[in-house]
Amino acid sequence: MTALSPSGDPWLLTPGPLTTSPEVKEAARHDYGSRDHRFIDINRRVRERLVDVVGGHDTHVCIPLQGSGTFVVEAMLGSFVPRDGKLLILVNGAYGRRMAKICEVAGRRSVLVETGEDVPNDPRALDRALAGDAGVSHVAAVYCETTSGILNPIEAIARVTARHGRGLLIDAVSAFGALALDTCTVRFDAMAASSNKCLESTPGVGFCIARRGALEHSAGNAHSLSLDLRDQYLAMEKDGQWRFTPPVQAILSLDRALHEFEAEGGTAGRGARYRENLHVLVEGMRRLGFETLLPDAVQAPIIVTFHMPADPRFAFEAFYERLRRRGYVIYPGKLTAAASFRIGCIGRLGVKEMRGALAAVESILDEMGVKSGAPAG
Ligand SMILES: *Cc1c(COP(=O)(O)O)cnc(C)c1O
Repeated sequence: MTALSPSGDPWLLTPGPLTTSPEVKEAARHDYGSRDHRFIDINRRVRERLVDVVGGHDTHVCIPLQGSGTFVVEAMLGSFVPRDGKLLILVNGAYGRRMAKICEVAGRRSVLVETGEDVPNDPRALDRALAGDAGVSHVAAVYCETTSGILNPIEAIARVTARHGRGLLIDAVSAFGALALDTCTVRFDAMAASSNKCLESTPGVGFCIARRGALEHSAGNAHSLSLDLRDQYLAMEKDGQWRFTPPVQAILSLDRALHEFEAEGGTAGRGARYRENLHVLVEGMRRLGFETLLPDAVQAPIIVTFHMPADPRFAFEAFYERLRRRGYVIYPGKLTAAASFRIGCIGRLGVKEMRGALAAVESILDEMGVKSGAPAG
């Protein structure tokens, strides 16, 4: 039996791009010139509502940017870390390491404070590192490290960083819209996110939410014209227009996606649906013998990493392909060091789809002659 989404495509149980609603796709059916006042109005209200998500109305601004999440993360690091600054990066997965790579390419000094891929960032290690290195100007953290799906202690990280008087830059790409992030409880200079993860819109636009004061101090930092967030901000404030061709249709979809997000009760409502998806998925997979990489206490409701089953009859490629044919696309590759695979629980889907995916997993194991999803050991 094949279960398909309303667009006739398989459900995406991945870290993004994700299944979006018919209305989000429908919203993109317009040709607006970049100077069309209709587009400029929509662009303005999208920016305002994104700032509202983190309660930053009086203190923060939203700077949208063409591209995927990585473009905005790269723009954020290049725009806020001065050329003679130094970035301390909290690393427990691929996206933290990617920020180190960005620093290398951009010619910014960086230092890493690492934990294992199944261990959250350590605020005490951060405290010691900052106490011992006055040269660190900024700290970067990944709120949900999508490599494993682990939740990092962003409030504690923000407290330590603020106590040392350094600026915090957050990769919130997989967290924004589902995990609480409020400027009252998490002091940050800037955070980066994109349209196509927990906001459930189509890909093509990212955004940075920055503290006004930090943005004012960022003049002269950027080494790239197109990734200069301060320049992007100043130009957009002047006449409401983007500096370069705007991703018009991606903004139209995001406008509609924000409407759905607000109707669902914002971050609290969406987070609750994802937590329910997570619960159903993990319970069901455990019943089939699978084990999660992470303990429940540090598992974010975004994507779950499962250990590879030990049964030699289990072949991941065939498992993936059979699931896809039944209407469920999971993530085909692993990023963790441990032998594993990932199933996402975000996007425009709910408990019904998670149960459908579990039924498909069960019958595929049966076809393969795999008695249990239990890993070795
Ligand atoms: C998805 C993601 C990104 C950006 O990835 P893109 O492929 O460029 O969209 C960055 N950080 C995290 C934590 C992510 O989950």
